[in-house]
Amino acid sequence: MSARKVVGIDLGTTYSAMAHIDNYGKPQIIPNAETERITPSVIFFDGTNVIVGTVAKNNAVADPEKIVDFVKREMGKPKEQFHREFNGKVYSPEELSALIIRKLKADAEKYLEQKVTDAVITVPAYFNDAERTATITAGRLAGLNVLQIVNEPTAAALAYGLDKLDENQTVFVFDLGGGTFDVTIMRIVDHKIEMLATNGDHRLGGKDWDDVIVNMIAEEFDRLHGENPLLDLHSYQDLHNRALSAKVQLSSRNSTTIVYHHGGKSVKLTLTRKEFEQRTRHLVEKCKTICEMVMQEAKLKWDQVDKVLLAGGMTRMPMIRSMMSSFAAVPLVDQLNPDEVVARGAAIQGVLSMLNEEDVSGEKIFSDVVRQQFSGLDGSLIEVTDITSHTLGVVLWDEKHLHEYVFPMIKKMTPIPAVIKNSFGTADANMERAVVKVVEGESSIPAECTPLGVCDIQLPPYLPKGSPVRLTYQYNANQVLEVQVEAAGNNAQVTIDRNTGLDPKDIGTAASSLGELNVS
Ligand code: AMP
Repeated sequence: MSARKVVGIDLGTTYSAMAHIDNYGKPQIIPNAETERITPSVIFFDGTNVIVGTVAKNNAVADPEKIVDFVKREMGKPKEQFHREFNGKVYSPEELSALIIRKLKADAEKYLEQKVTDAVITVPAYFNDAERTATITAGRLAGLNVLQIVNEPTAAALAYGLDKLDENQTVFVFDLGGGTFDVTIMRIVDHKIEMLATNGDHRLGGKDWDDVIVNMIAEEFDRLHGENPLLDLHSYQDLHNRALSAKVQLSSRNSTTIVYHHGGKSVKLTLTRKEFEQRTRHLVEKCKTICEMVMQEAKLKWDQVDKVLLAGGMTRMPMIRSMMSSFAAVPLVDQLNPDEVVARGAAIQGVLSMLNEEDVSGEKIFSDVVRQQFSGLDGSLIEVTDITSHTLGVVLWDEKHLHEYVFPMIKKMTPIPAVIKNSFGTADANMERAVVKVVEGESSIPAECTPLGVCDIQLPPYLPKGSPVRLTYQYNANQVLEVQVEAAGNNAQVTIDRNTGLDPKDIGTAASSLGELNVS
């Protein structure tokens, strides 16, 4: 048995899942210690014990102030912008996510009866540099070697397409989870999976549908009893749980009855699927607009799409399925459990990465049976090509109009890994320094983009105006950027101030501090 074991982790907003590749080369979900196939991404701080999963979720009503959920929405934010404090310790978003991963890792080790060393973690395709870096950090803090960060739709396509890569096809991945929405168009050609276009909404997901029901009940309660139950955190959690289960019921039934008690008073409400669909039409419209946008970006018509792959628990909702069917007579592919496809795909990517390592190092990790599962008919390994989801630019001085503007170095939708070089002239004669500002975003106006880092490089004296400053932008497979500047023989690497609150040099200390906690 190899000393290394790789898992795929779908670190979801509401639920997380983990998968591995078995001895026959097939992806399998790893159940958690509670024998569930998905684990709520909820953390409960109970003294020095940290409980992750269903037990934590169930405690949300009784102890909402000791609960952290929806951490994924905060990934990439610095500690000053988002943190939670328990027992005198302040936790950043990546530290909180690390606690979820620690629970998954520990449960997997128990289940597989071996140490888990490596992981591929998935992120929404539109996650930016800071969000991706924070996800890698979270994995490392949990004690894992993060082989790669993979886009969720790419993982879904891998999970669905593994034994179907012999067919060339264009697939549309529709992933609506608990808190995020992600759509991607992929092309499978000659055993290669290529991303054509991607789009999404960071803040659109199952919770928005739940909140429509929460507000309905709260309004009815207020109307009957003259009191808004949402002002109390405990009752919001309780109400949210009831709303969520009503929503799930409406996926298979035409109506449901919700009974809610608060402060000795109660309200009973019957909700039909039809009314629910009417009240959430604006949310479906939002999904629809994003689907149309991504089709435009890929310059495709619906009749050029061969399949729609469904991922995320919310795609079980009939309103979502009928919206997708209304676009075109395209088959909706859902043979796999939508909650599990992303983790399965991540496990596949994990093995692909390690098989590639095998090819380089010559050290054999997998059996021939496994290798065969991940190879095309000609024996070569399946290849996955992602594209960038954001434009990466540099701020330049427009001499004619006397203002700064953004020059796009790596454009959105460039296949990765990518290396782009460009040369720019200094704005003036005798400039003492060249200041290179690296930004991320689609606008040409610097203030509308996200600053990623600044590099201040000293120039030799008496340089004429227009002396070349050479920039190299290198985007690796994890969509994390490195920038190099060369001016008049001086080299500098742009320190990308990722602003995630956790400096790379502090990862070791943070990991050991987290290690002191008892996570289950
Ligand atoms: P994910 O983050 O992909 O696991 O998606 C979880 C979301 O899917 C949550 O908002 C769940 O409430 C929702 N969900 C799961 N099953 C169903 C269902 N049968 N009908 C409607 N929503 C569901």
